[in-house]
Amino acid sequence: MEQISQQIQQATQLIRQANNIVAMTGAGISTPSGIPDFRSPDSGLWDTTDPLTVASIFAFRQHPENFYSWIHPLAGKLLDARPNMAHYALAELEKMGKLQAIITQNFDGLHRKAGSQTIFELHGNLREATCIQCYRAKEATRIFEKFVTDGQVPTCECGGVLKPNVILFGEQLPMQEFIGAQLAVKAADLMLVVGSSLEVAPTSDLPTLALENNARLVMINYQPTYLDRKADIVIRADVAEVLPQIIEPVIA
Ligand code: ZN
Repeated sequence: MEQISQQIQQATQLIRQANNIVAMTGAGISTPSGIPDFRSPDSGLWDTTDPLTVASIFAFRQHPENFYSWIHPLAGKLLDARPNMAHYALAELEKMGKLQAIITQNFDGLHRKAGSQTIFELHGNLREATCIQCYRAKEATRIFEKFVTDGQVPTCECGGVLKPNVILFGEQLPMQEFIGAQLAVKAADLMLVVGSSLEVAPTSDLPTLALENNARLVMINYQPTYLDRKADIVIRADVAEVLPQIIEPVIA
């Protein structure tokens, strides 16, 4: 405990000194908001199905109904979830002009709900959907609210199945978002990695890019990562508890 409070003070100090902060967030920032990490076998979402067999683009094209029945219990949680103190702390840091961008692996939209402005959503979002037959894009919030209620596979006027604009296994990351994220990282003097175990490339390479450009690196995450030894500070604790403690003295 003693050690963690010291680390929090050091992290606060680094944030005070920084002018161009970029935060990269993963599932760990949203689990305190009640969203299970669907990559984790402990999430409950693996109990009956391996996500790889239903949540890949190949599986989706062949059996969209399997994807939709798998994601059904998660979809309600995603749409109802509220941001937690960690999301709000990052939004505050942006309002101060210290934080320039958030790069996220989450598609829950919680950074947006918390008021953050510059967000690179590398794994997409649930605000839009695209028809897999005619490729028309649609605003999708209401479409997915209806799906949560009735469980019916959402379809387009043309009869094609609608795919949420989330990046499924086997799909490329959205190129423009990724390039934007890289540029933000190159300009950063401090990178905060929050609740990501840095296991999915190429996203996991972004903190290395930050280090190559002489940025400081602060990581808050329960799981060890490949970069722990190179980071300035590694804090193993609950993100929703620790991140506000780090940021509040800077905002006050
Ligand atoms: Zn269509």
